[in-house]
Amino acid sequence: MATADVERARVEAGIRNLKLSGHVGFDSLPDQLVNKSVQNGFVFNILCIGETGLGKSTLMDSLFNTSFESTPSPHNLPTVKLKAHTYELQESNVRLKLTICDTVGYGDQINKEDSFKAVVDYIDAQFEAYLQEELKIKRSLSAYHDSRTHVCLYFICPTGHGLKSIDLVCMKKLDTKVNIIPIIAKADTISKTELQKFKSKINSELASNGVHIYQFPTDDDSVAEVNASMNAHVPFAVVGSTDFVRVGNKMMRSRQYPWGTVQVENESHCDFVKLREMLIRTNMEDMREKTHMRHYELYRKKRLEQVTIQLLGNFSE
Ligand code: GDP
Repeated sequence: MATADVERARVEAGIRNLKLSGHVGFDSLPDQLVNKSVQNGFVFNILCIGETGLGKSTLMDSLFNTSFESTPSPHNLPTVKLKAHTYELQESNVRLKLTICDTVGYGDQINKEDSFKAVVDYIDAQFEAYLQEELKIKRSLSAYHDSRTHVCLYFICPTGHGLKSIDLVCMKKLDTKVNIIPIIAKADTISKTELQKFKSKINSELASNGVHIYQFPTDDDSVAEVNASMNAHVPFAVVGSTDFVRVGNKMMRSRQYPWGTVQVENESHCDFVKLREMLIRTNMEDMREKTHMRHYELYRKKRLEQVTIQLLGNFSE
């Protein structure tokens, strides 16, 4: 909420401003909160949706600057399967329990109509597990490993021709369940002028089909400006690599071709840095919060309504 709105709400609620005549100590509350959060560690769960071979695993390695040791998936699976792996990462004294879920076999079947079903089931199953924990008489949510999906990175094939129907159908099915960030995969395979047209085409197709993608929040003054400008760059055109090339005295994550080198972290080569900045450094907490307050709340409401109707049905029998 903006400062003026906070002030107005306070006046309306009849809350008075008082001055303290000495130091009391509650100004340490933010530190107490930080210490507690650092002690508990953080959880973040990413779902990568995209066809096999679009560079999902490579991008995850590039984003977290590590090697998650994935095995390449075959193209001939009869159904879509979701595979989740959880890792413990640490940076300075901050621990992150990261779960990366991959859609194995997505888009590989001849009939792609139902590809989204396995994804919807997976997301709902994580919500259901949390709901069941919450409904227990003896709850232990603090020790519970929250597996709810905080963000879905939707990998778009760099065809230059706009979205495929599988993309639109899947994103539409998911947009009330998860924060979706669409990204153009393997963006080094598309020219600069084509890329701008491709981005506009994707955005207009998303809008005309009523697909709501995640908007980086602009209600917090400290990040409003950067988030607003980054919203205009979505879908981010990204490049990933597991290879490093020496540039000056630094080893840079790059892809080498006979005609030149693409540097993953070079902002004039692709939007990788923008994605990392938005996903990890600026808005991770907002995505965690929106998952709980918006998407989970909606699931919970629908489920509890269902349960109530069932109970009423049982009583009237
Ligand atoms: P996944 O099946 O979606 O997880 O795809 P992988 O990450 O296993 O990548 C499949 C192939 O694409 C590998 O040979 C990667 O080296 C290559 N690849 C990954 N990212 C990129 C990229 O940004 N550009 C290009 N041109 N190739 C990429």
